[in-house]
Order: sequence, then structure tokens, then C-alpha cells
Amino acid sequence: MDFGFTREQEMLKKETQRFCKKELSLDYVQWMDENVDFPPDELWQKFNDLGAFRMNVPTEYGGDSVSMVDGMLLYEEICKASTSVALAIGTTIGFGTRFIAELGSTSQKEELLPKICEGKLRFCMALTEPGGGTDILGAVQTCAEEKEDRWVLNGEKVFITGAHVADYFITICRTDPDNKPSKSLSTFLVPANAKGISITRIPKISCHHCDSVGISFNNVEIPKENILGTRGNGWFEMLTVLNPERIGVAMMGVGLIAAAYEYAFDYARKRQAFGGPISRFQSLQHYLADMYINLENSRNITYKSAWLCDNGQPYHMEATMAKVIAADGALHATIKGAEILGGYGICNEYPMQRFLRDAFQLQFSPISNEMSRNMIMQFQGFPKSWP
Ligand SMILES: Cc1cc2nc3c(=O)[nH]c(=O)nc-3n(C[C@H](O)[C@H](O)[C@H](O)COP(=O)(O)OP(=O)(O)OC[C@H]3O[C@@H](n4cnc5c(N)ncnc54)[C@H](O)[C@@H]3O)c2cc1C
Repeated sequence: MDFGFTREQEMLKKETQRFCKKELSLDYVQWMDENVDFPPDELWQKFNDLGAFRMNVPTEYGGDSVSMVDGMLLYEEICKASTSVALAIGTTIGFGTRFIAELGSTSQKEELLPKICEGKLRFCMALTEPGGGTDILGAVQTCAEEKEDRWVLNGEKVFITGAHVADYFITICRTDPDNKPSKSLSTFLVPANAKGISITRIPKISCHHCDSVGISFNNVEIPKENILGTRGNGWFEMLTVLNPERIGVAMMGVGLIAAAYEYAFDYARKRQAFGGPISRFQSLQHYLADMYINLENSRNITYKSAWLCDNGQPYHMEATMAKVIAADGALHATIKGAEILGGYGICNEYPMQRFLRDAFQLQFSPISNEMSRNMIMQFQGFPKSWP
């Protein structure tokens, strides 16, 4: 087994580290967290110059079609600097590019993918509804009705990350309500400026500089050709397209553990109590040791999932475990990190409170750790524990 990276991969990592140090300093990220609901346009453009948006676009449409491992090398550094920025970029890379590249028609690919490569388009994915996110098959009520040359959409979506700034919503609707739920869904490309769409802000404690909002579709008309993939097959197509998402979400947890560990490590060496640094207290060293163990574990399994994905091997089990280990590790690291900072752990002036707030989001989004654990045991051959 070779756990090392190639020279090119080490260079990519270093270049991204340099970029993040310059463009995502702690002070700037804190400013964004307090002042904006999405990364500013100038920052988006800088990520475009770095090549973030063409990363997973196929080469024939102007992209770099990089491997999942290379993509994760770049993503890890962004995740460490800001979960919100990673999320903001991830929605376009993960939802926009993948849905268009895998389900789009030739003309949709030719029109949209080159624009994504130039950083000119933003996407979001509108799946979750007020009726629930875990039991998604049961909850989707938003319907798309076929009428002559168009589809007419009605319904409500909730928690849709980046919809307030997106150019397009990848929207999952019920098209065939008489079929069984898994054969009743279809995916649509909905322009954000279509008539009948309204957006509602959802104030939340986590990922402040990447809002998630509610969307209301009220007789929204879109052209017939805006269906992505096959009518009624949306559930299965979506699962395939979204598989790699779990690797990216696990990397957000890895980034948070690394950020919390590094900050707490430095703090413990500088902060004085009882005549010396608090780093000499064994109980605090144990907190740091557990963070370090979780960092190594979560990083290894996340890269293993990416490597399996690149090598055409099944990776759902590893990616699901990676998501759970990284999400739980991030929550542990940020709680213990806050304890190491004492009172400063909850002060806005210090970043640990942001790490902690952001870590909480990973517990249930995009899939809850409870449901992930259900799936892990189902992969192990246990009977399915939910209907
Ligand atoms: C900030 C944020 C951003 C998001 N971004 C997006 C987005 O961009 N696009 C999108 O479509 N969605 C998005 N979501 C939605 C997210 O995917 C859902 O919140 C998630 O799937 C959980 O759904 P829920 O919140 O409705 O909780 P529920 O489904 O109501 O779950 C509530 C609790 O019940 C537990 N539970 C449910 N069923 C079971 C079971 N069978 N076994 C054990 N426990 C169970 C859950 O684990 C959880 O603890 C986002 C959510 C948030 C909060």
C-alpha cells in the first residue's frame, strides 16, 4: 500500500495552502462570517483563477477532469480555512457540474459547462422539503406537471444552500405521482429568474457566509427540454450523481478537525496558568491527542474513499463511514478545542466558536449520522432498519 502523494499532488497541495493563507485568512473569514451571506464575487473569481470550477468538468468542455484524490487535495485546504466557502464552491462543483455532465443533453453541456469553467454560473440543488430530509422519498411533494411545450412547477423546498445567489436550481420534483415513490421523481434545470419563484431566508447558527434558504415554486413554467435525465428515474439518477458528495462532506469534517487542532495546539502552548503553559496539563494533552487521532483516521478513510472512486471500485461504505467519523470527529475537536480556550472558546473574537457552529451542521447534513449508521449496517447485511 502506498499512502503517499505524487510530487505533482504535493505541489497542488502547497499551492492551495498558499492560496488559502493569502485569500482566506482567519480575519477575513471572520469578517465574512459576520457580514456576508455568500462569499463575495471577487473571492469567487479568485477561486476561478485557481481552477476550482473547471476541476471536475470533462476536458471536452474546457475542464481539467481531475481525479477525485486531486480534487480532495485542493478541497481539504479550503475546508480547513472555511466550511462556508467550501460549501459555497461545493454546491456548484458538486451539484451543478455533476448533474449537467452526467444527466444533461449535449446542448445543455455545450452551453453550461464552459460557463461553469469560467466561474460564470452558480448552482444549487433543491431536494429537501418541509416534510423531511431523511425520508426524502416520502417527503417530496413539489410537483412538475407536463403542459404542451413546458413543465409547470408548484411546491416548497427548504434548506437549499446557495439558492439566493444561484443562476440555476437543480430541482427534484414528483412527475408521476401514480407510480411507486422511487419511480415517481424527475430532475429539472430551473433558471433562478423564472417567474413564480420566491426565496425566504432561514437564519441559522452555522456556516454564516453560505446561507441556505427556502424556495417557493408557484406555477413556475420552464421549457420542456429542461428535464435532466429520464422522466420517473430521478431517484436512481440522483443517487448516482450524489455518491461522491459524501466524500466532499467528510473532507469538511477533516478540515474542521485540522483547524480546531492547530488553533488549540498553539493556544495551549502560549496560554499560561499556575506558572507555565497549559499545554503541560495531561488532561488537555489527552484532548489534543484524541483530536489528532480523529484527524488521522478521518483523513485516511476520506482519501481511501476518493482513491476507490478514482479506481472504479465500490466506495459507498467507506464514504459513509468517512462522513460519520469526520462529522463526529469535528464535533469532538471543536468542543474540546473550545474547552482548551476556556472562556475564549465561546468569544466571537476567536475562531473556535465558528468551528464549533459549523461542525454541528455536519451531524445531519446532507445525511444524518443516524441514517448513515443505518446504512452502514445495511451494507453489512443486516435487515434494513427503516421502512
Ligand atoms: C444548513 C443546511 C444546509 C442544507 N443544504 C441542503 C441543500 O443544499 N439541498 C438540499 O436539498 N437539502 C439541504 N439540506 C437539508 C438536509 O439534507 C436535511 O436537513 C437532512 O437530510 C435532514 O433532514 P431534516 O432536517 O428534515 O431532518 P429529519 O429527516 O426530520 O430527521 C430528524 C431526526 O430524525 C432522525 N431520523 C430520521 N429517520 C431516521 C431513521 N430511519 N433512523 C434513525 N434516525 C432517523 C434523523 O437522523 C434526525 O436526527 C440542508 C440542511 C441544512 C440544515
